[in-house]
Parts: sequence; C-alpha cells; structure tokens
Amino acid sequence: MGLATVEGAGRGTQAAAGRVSAVGGGPDRGGLEGPSGSPLGTIAGIAARNSADSVATTREMGKLARAERYELQAVLRGLISENRRIQGCLRFPRGGVSEIQIHQSHNSGLAYYSGLQTCGLGGVCPACGSKIAEHNCREIQAALDVWCGRGGVPALLTLTMPHYRSQRLSDNLNAMLAAYRALLGNGSYRLLRKHVKLDHSIRVPEITYGPRNGFHPHLHILGFFGADFDASAFERQFARLWLANLQRHGVRIDDPAAVLLRGARVQLGFTAGAEYVSKLGRSWGLAEEVAKANRKKGRGEHYSPADLLRHVRDDTLPGAQAVYREYVAAIDGVHLLQWSRDMRNQLGLKAEKTDQAVAAGEDQAAAVLARLTLYEWRAVRFGGRAAVLRVLHLADDDADGALGYVGELVRRYELAGRGGVMC
Ligand SMILES: [Zn+2]
Repeated sequence: MGLATVEGAGRGTQAAAGRVSAVGGGPDRGGLEGPSGSPLGTIAGIAARNSADSVATTREMGKLARAERYELQAVLRGLISENRRIQGCLRFPRGGVSEIQIHQSHNSGLAYYSGLQTCGLGGVCPACGSKIAEHNCREIQAALDVWCGRGGVPALLTLTMPHYRSQRLSDNLNAMLAAYRALLGNGSYRLLRKHVKLDHSIRVPEITYGPRNGFHPHLHILGFFGADFDASAFERQFARLWLANLQRHGVRIDDPAAVLLRGARVQLGFTAGAEYVSKLGRSWGLAEEVAKANRKKGRGEHYSPADLLRHVRDDTLPGAQAVYREYVAAIDGVHLLQWSRDMRNQLGLKAEKTDQAVAAGEDQAAAVLARLTLYEWRAVRFGGRAAVLRVLHLADDDADGALGYVGELVRRYELAGRGGVMC
C-alpha cells in the first residue's frame, strides 16, 4: 500500500485536481540521544556511529526508539503526576502475577518486560502509544488489503478548520468532532457517499501545535471508495458540507472561502502493492498516516504531541509543559481511532479491542528470555531507569548476561537496606 500524486496514482482512479497530492510526513524515528551515565551511553555510541555511517540498522534504531520511549515515559510521569495509570505503567507488577518475564519481540527481536501494568493511553504514553499504533497499523493495512482486493480505492481525507492562538484546544477539538458527527447524519452527505460509493471510513483526530498559532486540531478520514471515485469532485462537494457543519457548530470562520479551498483535502492511495517511500527513506503509507497520526515527527514548527514531550525533556520550547498538559486534558475520553459502523465485520476483521486490551496484550509467540522474581524486579527498579533499560539492552543479545547484572542489582539493593527511591 502506498500513496502518490494523482499523476502517479493512476490505477482505478479518475484524473483529479493537481492539489490532490501525496501523503507526506514520516515515521516516528525516535530520538538519538540518551542520558549520560546510563546504559544509553552504549546506545548513544550507536547513535554517534550511525550518524557517521549515516545509515542505521533497523535493530539499532529499535534500541534507540526503545530507550527514548523509557526516557519520555519518565518525562510524562513527572508532568502528569496525578494520573495513577501513567504512574504505574511499566513500573508496577500487574495484580496476580508472580514474576516479571523478559521476552524477545517477535517483530523487532528486541527484549521487553511482561507482567507489568500498562496505562493503555495511546494518545499520551510513549510505550503504550507505540504498541497501540503498531496494532492499529496492522489492522488498517489488513482492511486496506481486503478493500483493494475487491477493486476499491482508498483515499485519505484531511479536514481542517480555522484556529486562533487564544482558543482552547478542548473547545476546538470538541467542536470539530461534533461538526463531523453531524455531517455524517446529513442527508446531502449520505447522497454524496452513495454517489462515490464510500462504504467505510476510519476517522482519527490529529493534533499539532505551533508557537505562533497554538493548537491545530484536524481530522484524518481514511475513506474506502468505489473504483470510479472522482477525488477532485468529492473534495469540492465535501468542503461545502464541512464548512456548513463547522458554522452550525459555532466555529469561528473569518474566511469561508479559505475553508472551501483548503478545508477538505483528498490524498489518493495506490490500489495494490506499491509503497510510498518517504523522504526519510522508509515506507510510509496510508495505514501509518492514520495509525501513527499523533506519533510522527511534525514538520517545521508544527509539533506533534510526541515532539512536545521531547521539548519538555529538552527544555527547548517555552511553556511546553503547560501546552502538553492542555493536550492531555483535551484528549481525555476522546475515542481517537474510530472505525465506521459494521466496517470491521464487512471486511472480515475480528472484533475491535480496546486500547487498554491492546497495550496489556501479550504476544504469545514471543520467546521468554528470562524470568525475574518480584523481589528481583524491585531491585532492578531500585537501580533506576538506567538499570531497567540496561537489563533489556543486555538481554537483547545475552540473557545470562542480563541475569548476571540483575544479580548485581539485587546485591546493591540489599546493601542499601532495601529502601530508597525507585524509578
Ligand atoms: Zn502506558
């Protein structure tokens, strides 16, 4: 699955307007630096080497991304201290477990812990968000494969609305979601849907932040259209409906013509096989664009929520802490990725899992590398985030080495009198 300009999309589509374009953006590549004096010292070394070699291996990049997830999770815990789910995520054992296991991921080949609590807050938590995004990506890709196999055409519709720095994100986000919900029930929209054979759709809000204009909430709708779908005509007609529904929901619109021109944009996908290769040199298709909407790296001064958390970590954006907290409060209770009614059933997908279930889910095929008693886990946590990560880093290549290090951590823990502050 991939995306291209209209000229490149060709198959199964009619010619469309020039501004119907390729999906841009890129994967969340993770940061390249860890704190000094931690096991990330080794990882930082990898980063330096990679920078020199300019190409990193997938495994090395996976290690860097894992290290950054732990690092950002610690930043998040410091920022949202009142949320118990966030505080417990990947720190405290789940109720009823008698050991913490270290597994080898089926996909990345890297080590990870199981038996720990997970918060399941996909839009916020770097660890759960990554797992949920990968899961959603696989499911969306499966749905796209079925649809394309039936000769349908997928396309990504991006809906935007005017926004001003003084506005609160929660107000704008709620108005946008309400306007979209109302549009779905609109008679004119139902006629349009029938005309373009838009049978299914997945909607996900994406939120970016810019120092100049504040929060910019917008909606991605992945549409599953009929083969003779005219993207350009659909875009024009949809923009009119979008404008009317925004106005009906009290959204401040100083320039309606701009909404008609840019408020609804369609990007086409290939109907089968081919992959769009981003500027970053990795494939980035429709499924990623939708599933990883709030995790990818923003462009220019349009920061994604993941970028904002990095700014908090690095202290590189004035007010980033307050901005991120506003984002967390605004998406509380918002169903981020929503499949249209009966879509999963009609495309042969299993019943939808909640984000909490996905985050807590264990990969049954993942090999067990090592088992830690709960006492040993306390000793690992006593060693701080650096120790938690170093155990994984060692287990990636040498489970015995990891267990040897755990033994050392237990000795340190006991020497310290089994007290002190834990990560
Ligand atoms: Zn979490």
